[in-house]
Order: sequence, then C-alpha cells, then structure tokens
Amino acid sequence: MIRFRFRSIRNRLSALYAGLFTLAIVVIALLLQAMIVQNATQSVRAELAASSSVYDRIWNLRSAALADSADVLARDFGFRSAVATNDVPTIRSALDNLRNRARVDTAFMIGEDGQVVGTGDPRLRARVAGLPWELEDGQNSGLFSLDGQAFRAIVAPIRAPAVIGYIVFAVHIDRREMTAIERLSAIPLQATVLHRVQGQAWHADGIAAADVARIAPADGAAAARAEAAPIETGIGGVNSFVLLRPLPAAGSTEALLVLRYPVSLALADFRPLQLGMLMAGLVGLALVLLASIRLARTIARPISALESAARALEAGERTEVAVVGEDEIAGLARSFNAMARGIFEREDRITHLAFNDVLTELPNRVFFRQQLEARLRQADKNGEQVAILTLDLDGFKSVNDTLGHPFGDQVLKQAGAILQREAPESFVARLGGDEFALILPLHAGSEEARTLAQRICTALVEPIMIAEQQTLIGTSIGIAIAPGDGATADILLKNADLALYRAKQDGRGLFRFFQVSLDIEAQARRQMEIDLRQALKDGDFELNFQPIFDQREGHIVCFEALMRWPHPELGLVPPSRFIPIAEECGLIVRIGEWVLHEACRQASRWPGDIRVAVNVSPGQFRNPGLNAAILQALANSGVDPSRLEIEITESIFLESCADTIAMLHSLRALGVRIALDDFGTGYSSLSYLSNFPFDKIKIDKSFVDRLGEGESAKAIVQAIISLATALGMETTAEGVETQAQFEALRAQGCESIQGFLLSRPLSAADAFALSGGVAKAENVSERRQISNLAEASAEQPASARAKRSGSASA
Ligand code: C2E
Ligand code: MG
Ligand code: MG
Repeated sequence: MIRFRFRSIRNRLSALYAGLFTLAIVVIALLLQAMIVQNATQSVRAELAASSSVYDRIWNLRSAALADSADVLARDFGFRSAVATNDVPTIRSALDNLRNRARVDTAFMIGEDGQVVGTGDPRLRARVAGLPWELEDGQNSGLFSLDGQAFRAIVAPIRAPAVIGYIVFAVHIDRREMTAIERLSAIPLQATVLHRVQGQAWHADGIAAADVARIAPADGAAAARAEAAPIETGIGGVNSFVLLRPLPAAGSTEALLVLRYPVSLALADFRPLQLGMLMAGLVGLALVLLASIRLARTIARPISALESAARALEAGERTEVAVVGEDEIAGLARSFNAMARGIFEREDRITHLAFNDVLTELPNRVFFRQQLEARLRQADKNGEQVAILTLDLDGFKSVNDTLGHPFGDQVLKQAGAILQREAPESFVARLGGDEFALILPLHAGSEEARTLAQRICTALVEPIMIAEQQTLIGTSIGIAIAPGDGATADILLKNADLALYRAKQDGRGLFRFFQVSLDIEAQARRQMEIDLRQALKDGDFELNFQPIFDQREGHIVCFEALMRWPHPELGLVPPSRFIPIAEECGLIVRIGEWVLHEACRQASRWPGDIRVAVNVSPGQFRNPGLNAAILQALANSGVDPSRLEIEITESIFLESCADTIAMLHSLRALGVRIALDDFGTGYSSLSYLSNFPFDKIKIDKSFVDRLGEGESAKAIVQAIISLATALGMETTAEGVETQAQFEALRAQGCESIQGFLLSRPLSAADAFALSGGVAKAENVSERRQISNLAEASAEQPASARAKRSGSASA
C-alpha cells in the first residue's frame, strides 16, 4: 500500500522535502539542546565552584567560633587552677558549661599526662587523647574517623603560662550537621563528607559504596581530582555534577568534602526554554510538512496534468495541456501539445485516406458501408425506407483505353461531381473503378429513387468536356430499397448489384429496380458456373456442325462449329444460356480453346478444303493468349489456316476498338478468315465495316425472317449484300428455313446460306459423313436437300459455279 502511494512523484517529493526539513529541524534542536546543556553545565560548575569556597568559609568560621569558646575557657584563671590542681569536678562542670554554650556534643580536657577528663563514649575519649599531637602545626581543627564515622575536632591549648593541657571539642559530622551547612548555600547543594583512615576504604554518609569508589578512587587520584573542576557522574542513580574539596584532617585521617548538584536541577531553569524549543520545533515540523506537500504539489501538478493528458491522448481524446511559465516542464508541455496536434493531424489524414477515395475525394466503399449500416439501423428504428443506387459507368473502359488513364481519372472526377450535384440529399460514394453508389433516404416511396435514377442517367449521358476534349459516357443503375429488398448492408448491396447487372444486360444507360426473380436467376447462374467447370473437367461438352452451302458453287463450303452441353439434370443446355455465363466468369477462355482444338480436329478429317467456322467471344479476345491458342489448334490438327474461319460479333468492338482491330489483323496475318456474325443486330455496324476488311458478313436471321414480309426487309438485305460486295466481302445468310427465303436470297446475290432448310447442326460423325468422308444412312435427308439446292443453284450463271469443291455436292 505504502509502496503504491509512493509511486506518485507528488508523494515522493512530499516525503523527501518533509524528511529533509525534519532532519534540519532535529539537527538544529539537537544543537540548541547541546548548547543549553553546555551553558547549564558551565553555570552550574561556576556556581558549584563558588559554593565550595563559601563552604570553606562557613566551615572555617564554625571552627574559629568553637576554637574561640574553647580558648576563653582555657584562659580562665579558675579553670587553669582546677586543671593545675586536677580538680576534676570543677573541670567537668566547666566543660559542661562550655558544651552547652558552644552547642557541641562532646568536650574534653586532656592533661599533660594524657589524662582525659570529660563525658562521652570511652572510645571517643581514647581517640581524642592523641589529637593535640596529631594536628599539624598552627592548625587548631581537623577531621578524624572513628568507626566509620566522621568527627571534627577543635583543640585549644590551656596555658599557665606553659601549656598544661588542652580543651578538645569533638563534633559528629552527621546529616544534621551537613544540612545546617547546606542551608547556608545559595544553590540547592547536597554536601557529604568522605573520610578514611590510612588509605583504607572511603566512608560517606548516604552514598553507596560503588558511587563512592567512582567519585574517590582508593589511590591518590582522589586528592588530585579534589583540586580539579566539577565532574559529572551518577550518584544513587541521579546524574549529578560533583565537586570534591579537601578538608583539614587529623593524623592518619583523610577527608574530602563532596558537593553535588543533580543535573536535572541544574537544567530545570532551562526547561521552559527547552519546552519552548520543542513547541517551536513541533509547530515548525507541522508547517514544514504542509509546506512540503504544497511545494511537492506545485512541482508535481504540471506533471500530473501532463500525465492525465497523455492518458486522454491514449484514449483517443483530442487534448492539450496548459503551458505555465518558461521552465523545463513548460517546455515539455509545449512539446506534448505539438506531439498531440501532430498525432491528430496524421490520424485525420489516415482516417481521411481510409474512408475517402483519393481521386474523387468522395467517401470510399468502407465509409459507404459504415454509413449504410448506420442509416439502416436508424431507418429500422423510425420505420423508414432507404434506397441505395449502385452505378457503373457505361463505356468507361474504352475512354481509358482510347484517351488514357489520366483522362479517365478526370472523367471519374467529373462523374463524381455530377452525382453530387444531381443528388445533393444523398450520400454519394465511389466504390472503386467506375462504380459509384448513393444512399437516398425515402420519404415518399420508391418514386423518389426512380426520379433520381432518371435524373442521373440523363445527366451522365451529356458529353463530358475535359481539356477541350469531349467524351461520351453513360451509366447503368441498380436500385434496391430497404427493408423490402434486404435489411442488411450486404444483402442490399448485392441486390442493387443484381439490378445493375440487369440494367447492363438490358442495354445500358438504364436503371432497374431489384426483383426477387433477379436473385433466383443469379443463383441459377452461380450453379451453372459450378456445373460448367465440372463439365469442362469431365469433358462433357460436344460440338455440332452446321453446314454452310455456297449456292453459287452448289456445294457445302464450310461447317460452323456450335457448342452443345448435355447437362445431367437440365438436359441439353443451349449455348445462348451458358456462353454468357462462361464469359462472365472467365471460363470462356478455356472452353473456347477446347472448341478451337475440337473444331480443327474434326475439320482435319474432312476431305478437300471445306472450312470450319468457330465462334469466338469478346471474353476470348480480351485474352492475349488467343493467337497462340489458334496456332496451337491449327498445328495440332494440321489444318491449313485458310480453312479456319473465326466468327466474331460487333460486341467485341464495344470494349476496345483499337486493340480488337489489332488482334484481328494479327489473326488475318496468320491466314485465318474473319467473319462478322449476326450482322445488323449491333450498334454502328457500318463503321466497323470500314475499319476492318472482313472476309465475310453473316446476315442475321432476323433479316432473313422478315424477307417474306414486304419490300422494306428485302431492301435492307439487298443493301447489306451490295455494301459487302462493294467492300469485297462475302455474305452468308443465317437461319434460312424456307425455300422462299432461299430463292429471295439467291436472287439478291447472297453467296452462301446456312439454316434448317439445308441442315440442322449435326453431330461430328454426321458432319463427317455429310462432308463426304463416309456415307451414312442418317444423312439421307440432308444429302437430298443439298442436292435439291445444288440443282436450284445450277440455274445460276456459270461464272458463279467456276470454283468447285470435290466432295459435298450430290
Ligand atoms: P450463331 O453463331 O449465330 O449461330 C447460329 C445459331 O443459329 C445456332 O444456334 C444455330 O443452331 C441457329 N440456326 C441456324 N439455322 C437456323 C434456322 O434455320 N432457324 C433457327 N431458328 N435457328 C437456326 P445455336 O447453336 O443455339 O447457337 C447460338 C449462338 O451461340 C451462336 O449464334 C453463337 O453466337 C453461340 N455459340 C455457339 N457455339 C459457340 C461456341 O463454340 N463459341 C462461342 N463463343 N459461341 C458459340
Ligand atoms: Mg456464328
Ligand atoms: Mg449468327
């Protein structure tokens, strides 16, 4: 817990400052305390020293007073007479008198012969008997020990006139005596006397032996210490200042005066000062703590602000910190702000790039999906409808191919701008390539979507001008409406795409609403795609061959290879159903290669120079490997290139005219013939005719069908044949079913015909037989029909029959 709390800089700084300040205060307090103690010690020492000399004086005064009393008696004539005559009762009475006057315990008279007269303990009497001779010269008093007790002796000689004896006072130095002396001192001293005899152990009243031994060692050090300054030591557990003074002693007795002063008493005067200091210290400490916290907070606050700003930044909030002052933290805050701004600018840029299309600046697919999901949720809540329109520009690829990609980019930009202009209330996005999409909230039903789609189709059909270059595009639009056509973004987009696909199929420049049938179709298409792959793998495809009869020469000159797919469940699937799907999914390339190989293989078995015509789709043309595939088929089969005819439709020119024409030329260069199939059903057929020298034009069945209907149809067919002849191209009429059609075409100069009148598409074996390889019973009707047609043709001018093929004629 504490570790956790100290993780914050503020707490650490607070602790650091508080610690440092506290340390400083404690050091100061200790110094002051030391100074106080020092001061107190010095003053106590001085006082002790002063008191000790007062003591000396008091001690001496007391001795002098006693000595004077004794001297008065010693000089008394009567007393001297009594001593001289050894009048003991008188001596005793005089001594008693003196004792009372001088207020001492014991008083003796010692005669010349050593006789002691007086009251008191016999041992004391015996001890004092020797005293007059023990005192040093000139001294009239001294201390002596007796049985561990201290006594003061005062001696006064009795002269008559020679010394005939001595008067001796013996005063017991007990506690009472010392207290009397203590009272005279200015300071509360405790006085004790230390004494001993002849180097034995020291005695003292009221001091333990161990303390005595420490104050006054047994050796000579005690005397030396007595001359020195006071010492500080413990006595009876109380720390005290102790001063020793030597006292005059008698004979073998040594005596020291011990003056002590407890340190606690000495320091008592300083207690208020110490208390004041303690209080000041505590108050100081509290202030220091507060100040530390404040200081730490002041320093740590900008750091905390930075820290929370960094956290906010981490959480993705746009944040800045206030810059205060000019110090390093202010610099850090400034750098932080710059960093945060940089991060958000980059983030904005990244977000913009992630959600917007760089070229058109429109929202991209990701953004579109997000918006769609959000709006669908909202609409679901409010029970509203939302329409989405998916757009695909028509003919954009050829703009890119013919005018270049930079131009194409400009077209896309303008298309985006037109969409925004035409649909200001919609969310417009570019999904990629030439695909755009719009979200339109509906307030009054699907009619709004229809109106907008129509407006966009009309606007985009207008020519677009870029750098003085004009171009034409258009758009197809698919519309799906939530919630009916799908409640989720995925389903809605898929369904709008299906509608768009239908609009493209229906001829472009249109819009289509999604219908459930489109979805069913799409599913069927997907299944067919899967089946196609399987069929290609399993070799399920077959080729039929339909003969093309040259009515001028009167025999078959060519077979058109037509794919057949016997589906295990669906039966025979017509190419018109599966070829477009193979185109869409790209399978057409591999299927087309198989057709080329199989067609050439079959043709190689046919006698003479009968050609084989192979249909090639735009999807195959988009693949650069087409040339190689054709060469491979020719090489494998050994068929001469001139016997191969490639049938293309005008739709291949829709994508990239220039590339297609280049490809056609390269095929032509191989010696392969090129036929334009289904002529008249496309867009601007005549311009293609002038751009490429086709070998043959195949007039579509729709024109042949109408031949019997009147003159206008005849006129169109005649015009096509004349145009082809003028351009040096052959003509073949497709779907000839009746003799009348045949006659009419022959009359108009159409070179060859193909149709059920002559023969339906045949199996490879039947075609082989019909070609003259092997005769087969099944071909009898075709053979008969061909011979009939040949006869009819024979009525033609001879020039048209100049060329003959060896086998097919009947
Ligand atoms: P297409 O190239 O125009 O082929 C002629 C179509 O007309 C064939 O239909 C043929 O059976 C049919 N036909 C011929 N004479 C008559 C007639 O007198 N009356 C009627 N009602 N129909 C007649 P099919 O075989 O169904 O082929 C349809 C289309 O499928 C072909 O049109 C061609 O565009 C495409 N196709 C067929 N096989 C292939 C192929 O191997 N590759 C490619 N890319 N397309 C193929
Ligand atoms: Mg064809
Ligand atoms: Mg055709």
